[in-house]
Amino acid sequence: MVPLDFHYVPTCSANGCGHAAVYKIAASWSDGTSWELKHYGLACDVHRHSQLARGQIHRQDLLLADGEVVGQVGLFEFRLNARDAELKRLPEHE
Ligand SMILES: [Zn+2]
Repeated sequence: MVPLDFHYVPTCSANGCGHAAVYKIAASWSDGTSWELKHYGLACDVHRHSQLARGQIHRQDLLLADGEVVGQVGLFEFRLNARDAELKRLPEHE
């Protein structure tokens, strides 16, 4: 077990924000044998839409290798130390 650093709080990826992250911007990725979330950034409540839009732009620039599949960039709940498979995809328009 790695001891947890309770002082470390991941923050929003928006420039100059610094608020604690509540959302993770990510897209599901698979190469056919393994699966994970491709990470595009973290967002607070205020910046979730702008960070999502930014992630979607980055996604368009992504070059895929043979057999790689990447889903749409979406908003996921962010929990520290949770595994990718445990994170819930959230509706984008609430
Ligand atoms: Zn923010």
